[in-house]
Amino acid sequence: MSKQVYTFGGGANGASDDPRTRDKTIVGGKGANLAEMAGIGLPVPPGFTITTEECVRYLASGADFSPELRADVATALTHIEGSVGKSFGNAADPLLVSVRSGARVSMPGMMDTVLNLGLNDATVQGLAATSGDDRFAWDSYRRFIQMYSDVVLGIEHHLFEDALEIVKEDNGFFTDVEMEAEHWQALVGEYKDIVAEALGRPFPQDVQEQLWGAIRAVFDSWDSDRAKVYRRLNDIPGDWGTAVNVQAMVFGNMGDTSATGVAFTRDPATGERAYYGEWLVNAQGEDVVAGIRTPQYLTLKAREAANAKPLSMEEAMPAAYTELARVFDLLELHYKDMQDIEFTVERNKLWMLQTRSGKRTAKAALRMAVEMVGEGLIDEATAVRRIDPMALDQLLHPTLDPNAPRDILGKGLPASPGAASGAIVLDADTAEHRAELGEAVILVRVETSPEDIHGMHAAKGVLTARGGMTSHAAVVARGMGRPCVSGASAISIDMPSRTLQIGNRKLKEGDIITLDGATGDIMAGEVKTIEPELVGDFGTLMVWADQHRRMKVRANAETPADCRMARQFGAEGVGLCRTEHMFFEAGRISAVRQMILAEDEGGRRAALEKLLPEQRADFRAIFEVMAGLPVTIRLLDPPLHEFLPHGDAEFEELAQTIGIGAETLKRRAGELHEFNPMLGHRGCRLGITFPEIYEMQARAIFEAACDVAEASGEAVVPEVMIPLVATKRELEILRGLVDRTAVKVFEEKGRKLEYLVGTMIELPRAALMAGEIAEEAKFFSFGTNDLTQTTLGVSRDDAARFLGPYVEQGIYPRDPFVSLDVDGVGQLVKIAAERGRATRPDIKLGICGEHGGDPASIAFCEAQGLDYVSASPYRVPIARLAAAQAALG
Ligand code: ADP
Ligand code: MG
Ligand code: MG
Repeated sequence: MSKQVYTFGGGANGASDDPRTRDKTIVGGKGANLAEMAGIGLPVPPGFTITTEECVRYLASGADFSPELRADVATALTHIEGSVGKSFGNAADPLLVSVRSGARVSMPGMMDTVLNLGLNDATVQGLAATSGDDRFAWDSYRRFIQMYSDVVLGIEHHLFEDALEIVKEDNGFFTDVEMEAEHWQALVGEYKDIVAEALGRPFPQDVQEQLWGAIRAVFDSWDSDRAKVYRRLNDIPGDWGTAVNVQAMVFGNMGDTSATGVAFTRDPATGERAYYGEWLVNAQGEDVVAGIRTPQYLTLKAREAANAKPLSMEEAMPAAYTELARVFDLLELHYKDMQDIEFTVERNKLWMLQTRSGKRTAKAALRMAVEMVGEGLIDEATAVRRIDPMALDQLLHPTLDPNAPRDILGKGLPASPGAASGAIVLDADTAEHRAELGEAVILVRVETSPEDIHGMHAAKGVLTARGGMTSHAAVVARGMGRPCVSGASAISIDMPSRTLQIGNRKLKEGDIITLDGATGDIMAGEVKTIEPELVGDFGTLMVWADQHRRMKVRANAETPADCRMARQFGAEGVGLCRTEHMFFEAGRISAVRQMILAEDEGGRRAALEKLLPEQRADFRAIFEVMAGLPVTIRLLDPPLHEFLPHGDAEFEELAQTIGIGAETLKRRAGELHEFNPMLGHRGCRLGITFPEIYEMQARAIFEAACDVAEASGEAVVPEVMIPLVATKRELEILRGLVDRTAVKVFEEKGRKLEYLVGTMIELPRAALMAGEIAEEAKFFSFGTNDLTQTTLGVSRDDAARFLGPYVEQGIYPRDPFVSLDVDGVGQLVKIAAERGRATRPDIKLGICGEHGGDPASIAFCEAQGLDYVSASPYRVPIARLAAAQAALG
């Protein structure tokens, strides 16, 4: 069996050659980076890591610690004791440790860290004696009892906060800083009473019991509800487990030469190359992010920019700051990426407690990637690989129009960029509920905690009254790509009446506000937005991506406006132009209805005559915008009854317009009723039964193409796509129809154009028979929406009721309508591609389902050697980047 406990830090015996100590899957992200920092000689308090494998084993065994684990932990503890020169539980000179969870990826929802573990009624005296600081010792002990009780024993933390408030009130104190040793000591007594009361037994005094209790709590937290929600939202498998890190304490709360802080080596919001962070003098652990005290700025420049009074670390602790800056540079060189760091200064000595690649906004990610290439830190391919394609989504949506009037209610910190408007909601459950009903909501909280994650996810934006740029709200919102304004201290929320006050304006839940996460502005009502553009770093990165991309990227677009947007975003053609939406337009729908309800071919042709010029104009406009690029047009696909009149009034109106009795029309409509329209009279079946419809559409396409070629000299290559084909014969008949129409039009126009006829592969039979079908098809476009429906036998429109539990229980790893079911549907794609190519080696292959914009599905398409993917216009840049990453492998 492999080793399950690894030590780090503490000089020579901490450095390890075992690759498992740097493997995040084994020791978790935090553990791997602690070991790595110690390995490159940075000051890391010594400690040890229990592996994720051990967590998985523990959970599978029904929560049992193995004898081996107990022995290995005991040995590892001696390592810490040896290097620090203190021993765990020793009343005279106690070693204290932190117990920290650490999964493969950073995961809010896991157990919170317990600090100062190893304190009890005896060791607190030793700590006071060796530090010469009673106040520090008792402050540490009360922190420990509170943290341990909250996260390990499950006692509500407000009980402790209330007790602290009472002590402060009794003594007339406003802040914790005013508390003296004796006050903390008295509070410890009360804390112990609270525990005894809640637990029915005293606070554990045995340090081994404390340690194992904390280890158990970390392991158990892997299966907490909070962790499960987070995993589901972030596609993290349930079988990874978390590691446990036990580490010697260093103290930022030892007076004015001590401090604690969090920092980024570059600005995580803008990407600017400037140290960025927050710190607090005489503080410990989470104080900086907890929002209890307002943190100070790290650098003089940032302090001046914010016009803040409390000294920056650069000014207050120049020596420790210089050392920190040196560490920043070392870490960036080592990791070749922006780092998110936690540190503590104990009596002027700097200690590193964490580093990891920092979360960043999409804008910052692009700027950093482009600048790091410029600095020679990384190459272009690395820059392309580094950007999460889905994160670009943040930049591909409208931002506030700088010229739109704004009714500013107040201002907070610009914690996560982007603009959002929506109704105020005051708790996470309400946010989720109202969002499910289709409402845009803004979650407004005093501050957020991991319990709010589902609400933040459901909300368009997040606004908090407390907390800095590194608060929970800020970090999580940036990760989710939600605009966030944090620390807006002018807000006061009154939960009982569900109202809030911003400055002197009173608002209530449900009122619309707008947030600008880039400036921190909070505005009343909805503010006008403008469309995004691919310029600057975004543009540069897309150029690099295109250089590495093999597959083409097209757009699913059916209006000239969509096509224009798609081209702006770099689309290289239209992969799917649906024609049915054109039929719904006002002014046309009655002609469409007349066609559908006609008794015979003659009646239909009369109606189609009216539609022809309209369709031709549609296509002409699209071809003009697409200037020479390929455009795949799908002939009419949906069941006809979708176009039928609704209700008596519409029937009457139609009867008037086309001069047929309403009763006749109703009877005819009744005949069109289908039990299962998705599998009914639709797709190419319409073309087979009513060839004149497809004939009209083909004519409109070719006439438009000729006209545009005539006018501009730039002829598009129309690709006529026949939907829902199951057999070769269907395509043979319809291709014949399209070809005959083309010949006629070209004769009439005196010009011949290149065009292709192909089909959508969206039925399993078509995929299986692709070899034969390819005899008639110049291209296949995988219509993976229908192919998923028909392969899984799941209706996309009805799946909402059961797909959630299906994904939760791992029946499908992800929603198969969002990310291609590679194992099942993917196999059909693969078979169809192979068989199609066997018949027609140069057959053009693409995908036009929703999956064409999903990075994982795009990687699959690359592996199958498809020629292009087609996605909605806003997703085109995402697809370009994902296709480049897929090509880079
Ligand atoms: P999280 O993953 O939530 O950031 P951490 O385990 O990093 O949790 O710890 C929370 C806080 O406790 C951090 O601010 C960290 O710096 C501090 N901390 C953790 N271990 C120690 C330690 N050994 N000495 C001093 N502070 C510590
Ligand atoms: Mg941390
Ligand atoms: Mg379809």
